[in-house]
Amino acid sequence: MTDENNHPVLIIGGGISGIVCALELYRLGVPVTLIEKEASLGGLAARFCCKASEACNKCFACVVDKKLKEISEQSQISQLTGAEITGVAGDQGSYKVSLAKAGKVSELEAAAIVVAAGIDPYEASGKGEYGYGVIKNVVTARDLEEMLRFQGKIYRPSDGKLPQNIAFIQCVGSRDESIGNLYCSQVCCAYALRLIRAIRHKYPEVNATFLYMDIQPAGASFHDFLNACREDKGIRFIRSLPSRVYHSPVTEDLRVRLADTERGEVVEEPFDMVVLSVGMVLKKEAKPLANLLGLGLNEEGFLASPAPGNGIFVTGACAGPKDIDRSITHAKSTAALVHNYLNGR
Ligand SMILES: Cc1cc2nc3c(=O)[nH]c(=O)nc-3n(C[C@H](O)[C@H](O)[C@H](O)COP(=O)(O)OP(=O)(O)OC[C@H]3O[C@@H](n4cnc5c(N)ncnc54)[C@H](O)[C@@H]3O)c2cc1C
Ligand code: SF4
Ligand code: SF4
Repeated sequence: MTDENNHPVLIIGGGISGIVCALELYRLGVPVTLIEKEASLGGLAARFCCKASEACNKCFACVVDKKLKEISEQSQISQLTGAEITGVAGDQGSYKVSLAKAGKVSELEAAAIVVAAGIDPYEASGKGEYGYGVIKNVVTARDLEEMLRFQGKIYRPSDGKLPQNIAFIQCVGSRDESIGNLYCSQVCCAYALRLIRAIRHKYPEVNATFLYMDIQPAGASFHDFLNACREDKGIRFIRSLPSRVYHSPVTEDLRVRLADTERGEVVEEPFDMVVLSVGMVLKKEAKPLANLLGLGLNEEGFLASPAPGNGIFVTGACAGPKDIDRSITHAKSTAALVHNYLNGR
């Protein structure tokens, strides 16, 4: 590795959190190396679609595109993509980090390491009763986002037709004792309702049913947005989480079994597509990295805050569920902490 990569700060993870932390440290005059294991920067949020309806619905996806452009124009920040950390030696602000890139192993020195390793969407097949991976017309919200972003339309996977009647099942992989994830993922109520509004705007004939336990607000104008959703005649709100999704092997149409609290009975409602609003879990690759750096996990299974003073920092969604806006705020405050730490040495 060349000397120009031996910067005082090494940021591991080039999602929105790592990118913003790098840009902020650069603005503070601190040289940074940013390491990303994938071929390009951006992380999970670089694949989200715009969820505007009549107006912008503040999903923050385009902010990620903007920051990606900003960092791509910033030649002063070393950006190593397709690279992974294989070893860490040293302590207390004097680290030697081994790196593998394109089959070659090299070494970097750093005074501070920021971990921004991010999250994975919950693997929806873990909730077998909803049939993801088995029933064709059960998709995740992430699948739906990618349909909209990369194909510009939504369709039923079984026949390519526009679904007329879609159910959104909330809290898939979160707030769920049966899988051991008791935390709220913070983002899925907001992203699902924004997706619904964007879909209703594009296809006014499509109706959506939002099946939920509680609605987690997100952002300053969320209540106005929620009121607009409630006034929309094409969106039904039902406070009930389904117990099972059934399908007809002939038509691939779906029935969703749920307890209707208003009618006081268990019903089966027909739909032609079901969207699972998956939550977030710590990124798989973050665990071996945590082991290399001696980091623990908190009660929710995300990265615990490291002991202060040894030059290791954790930022973004890998420290606990966050949307893009809160990940950006966290990354900026982490950059300020790193700056103070370097100045205080
Ligand atoms: C289904 C879903 C939908 C969402 N929709 C929205 C939305 O509409 N609006 C919103 O504001 N938020 C949304 N979120 C939340 C959003 O995804 C997060 O806020 C954001 O991705 C957090 O960014 P991050 O940089 O912390 O993590 P990530 O985006 O996960 O980025 C982490 C990066 O680190 C890299 N990395 C990991 N380990 C290593 C390693 N060992 N070495 C090198 N690189 C590594 C990864 O490859 C990745 O590029 C959604 C989340 C989910 C699960
Ligand atoms: S809806 Fe999201 S991606 Fe679209 S303009 Fe608004 S913030 Fe940007
Ligand atoms: S944000 Fe909403 S859907 Fe997601 S876990 Fe929290 S309450 Fe459930």
